[in-house]
Amino acid sequence: MPTSFPHRLTHPASLKRLRRSDLMQEKQRTLFDDGPVETPWDDQEESAVAAVVFGQGVRGTFHYLVPEGMLDSVCPGKRLEVPFGRGNRLRIGYCVDLLWQRISERRLKSVRRVLDERALLSPKMLNLTAWIADRYLCEWGQVLDAVVPAGVRRQAGWRWRIFIRATVSKFDLENLKLTAKQRKVLEILTREDRAWDPRELAAAAECKEGVLQLLVRRGWIRKESVRVREEEPSREVFARQSPLALTDEQRAARDAILELLRSRKHGTVLIQGVTGSGKTEVYIQAIEEVVSYGRQAVVLVPEISLTPQTLHRFRSRFAHVAVLHSHLTDVERARQWEWIASGGVQVVVGARSAVFAPAPHLGLIILDEEHETSFKQEETPRYHARDVALQRAVLEDVPLVLGSATPSLESWHRAQSGEFRLVKLSRRIEDRPLPAVRTIDLRQPRGKRGDKGAITRRLDAAVRQALARGGQVILLLNRRGFATHIQCARCGHVVRCPDCDIALTHHRSEESAVCHYCDYRVPAPTHCPECQFDGIRFSGLGTERLEAEIRARYPGVPCLRMDADTMRSRGSHEKALEAFRRGDVRILLGTQMIAKGLDFPNVTLVGVINADTALHFPDFRAAERTFQLVTQVAGRTGRGDQGGEVWVQTFDPENPAILAAVRHDYEQFAAWELPNRQSMHYPPFTEVIRIVVHAAQERAARLAAETLAERIRQAWANEAGAASTEDLFRLLGPAAAPLAKLRGRFRFHFQIQTSAGERLREVIRSVWDAVKLPEEVTCTVDVDPIDML
Ligand code: ADP
Ligand code: ZN
Repeated sequence: MPTSFPHRLTHPASLKRLRRSDLMQEKQRTLFDDGPVETPWDDQEESAVAAVVFGQGVRGTFHYLVPEGMLDSVCPGKRLEVPFGRGNRLRIGYCVDLLWQRISERRLKSVRRVLDERALLSPKMLNLTAWIADRYLCEWGQVLDAVVPAGVRRQAGWRWRIFIRATVSKFDLENLKLTAKQRKVLEILTREDRAWDPRELAAAAECKEGVLQLLVRRGWIRKESVRVREEEPSREVFARQSPLALTDEQRAARDAILELLRSRKHGTVLIQGVTGSGKTEVYIQAIEEVVSYGRQAVVLVPEISLTPQTLHRFRSRFAHVAVLHSHLTDVERARQWEWIASGGVQVVVGARSAVFAPAPHLGLIILDEEHETSFKQEETPRYHARDVALQRAVLEDVPLVLGSATPSLESWHRAQSGEFRLVKLSRRIEDRPLPAVRTIDLRQPRGKRGDKGAITRRLDAAVRQALARGGQVILLLNRRGFATHIQCARCGHVVRCPDCDIALTHHRSEESAVCHYCDYRVPAPTHCPECQFDGIRFSGLGTERLEAEIRARYPGVPCLRMDADTMRSRGSHEKALEAFRRGDVRILLGTQMIAKGLDFPNVTLVGVINADTALHFPDFRAAERTFQLVTQVAGRTGRGDQGGEVWVQTFDPENPAILAAVRHDYEQFAAWELPNRQSMHYPPFTEVIRIVVHAAQERAARLAAETLAERIRQAWANEAGAASTEDLFRLLGPAAAPLAKLRGRFRFHFQIQTSAGERLREVIRSVWDAVKLPEEVTCTVDVDPIDML
């Protein structure tokens, strides 16, 4: 029976990919002689063939013959060393499938070596990575490289050690001519069948290691290399705590998860719980059930929330908690990964990439603060951990729990439509009231308000009162630096980054002007670079200037600034929060970094210096971001017995996003914003794909963007035949990106909104394969973009 590749397919996603990669191989075959075999060969035995994909730089899937002797060790998920290209240079690739196929052995090259003892990826994880490549329009190999940590790939934390083993048995000893010492060595070695460390062996036989060398030369013993782990780090042991008695609302939320767990089916629960409503305790008690089944849970939190306090909450309840985050060294990450893969872990707590934790018996995935933008990876593969978590939960047939006080409208919409099960935690623990939130209108002229600086009189009074009563204060300003504008008072010239076309920010502590996109730095100018006038003005407010104002207003009150500038070194974030927790710091000010997840009972006042910073961004999620930021930072107060209050300074107090945040009313916000999204054809009602083209020459970038946009437009129209003409296709642009120049490169972008994401992806793929962009142009495709600059 004639057969042709691909012969066996594991899942629909790979079906699509293999079909597509076949096309690529057609092209590849003229370049390389190790393309696929399309011709069926009848009267031959079936042979094992490994399908291999490579990381960066090579597109498509390639097939290699598995030699007889490797049949036991080759399997999908392991890496293989194979000859590649005309020169047969050895290359490492991932085995993604193993098929049985009648082929002529002459037509295929053979696998040279198997690199891994155990598969790095399970069939389900391979399936997941294929899905990611498909959905986010990138190469499968790129995804695999991103999923398997570098340390695991180069087997960090392991080293080779030499051991000694006898080649003769104890019955041979009488017939050998041996010295007393040699005999003793061989007696020890033949007593039981195991390899010895040479030093230990020499000590046990009371001889020098030279004796061993001689025995090796005679052939009576041999050396063997064994891969062993370097020292294990000791794991901290925590005092175990017992479960808290849940409130009624918490119990209902937990039961919704348990119901799914017991049904052994996939399903998604969205917990919309106000700040301080005790979501974490719900997660923990659900995980206890998972652990009792002998299964593992993965808990994803934003990187910034991965504090020692968070870890402590899990470690005080579970004995074996693994952690994955970006500050681990390669060796540390490799060790956590292997520990998880061994099945010895009950709970994995980690940031975005922990969605790939190789838990062998996954039972539950939890994604806390599911609205957080840091779950989106801003480099290839540009995946969103929420969507990947959902896909993984579907593939593994396990429940997914999403939690937030301010869910993304995407998730909210799915809950409204019944796809997700919605559970609400509307009250704080111990019925603590949510703090009163009030706005301060910045539109009145300063003089009339009697205000100087960034802190209005009203807010100033609140700060003084909070401090007088022994409370702590959080002040949010979502902009770092001292002055955000450096402008000549005579000619109006604004000092900009030469590479990015962005106004430089004045950083006073280092007397420099800094670009917040590329970190370009120059000494702060004293004269206008254009007209030499010496009256240069530093205006606009950043956290550094706010800090100066606070120190001047409240002398002697210890305050601390948290932003990307002060929190550069590893561990500084934890140190700062610890000082605040202890009460050594009374006023904490900073960027959005301080708005998230902190639980400090003594914070009685939160002030938002300017709620509008995000409101006017060229981003369809600007209102959502503003609502989230204000709601989340407001949630940092009133967590103790003293209650709390929030003052929000804004130029736009009637803005619905701010009004809803003032009332802690998520549903009001969603009810207002969703119709806007619908009428503008934005998510959650459509899908968006954004394409950014950049080049050193402005013309080249614009041209490439225009060509691509036009080709996609055409391909969509041509391909229309079978597809529904009702599918929405809306292409905006191309135009200069809001960040028109970045790191010396000009940027153009366009975005496509569609109701038929799968079809659009198919169209973009076909254009991709057909259009060849000039060498100097770089193009990124961002599916479900978060960053719109
Ligand atoms: P959220 O994540 O919803 O903001 P947390 O999980 O941080 O809320 O809980 C807020 C505080 O309430 C924590 O200090 C937590 O230990 C406490 N807490 C949670 N559940 C209970 C409960 N059932 N009984 C008493 N305290 C609780
Ligand atoms: Zn710059």
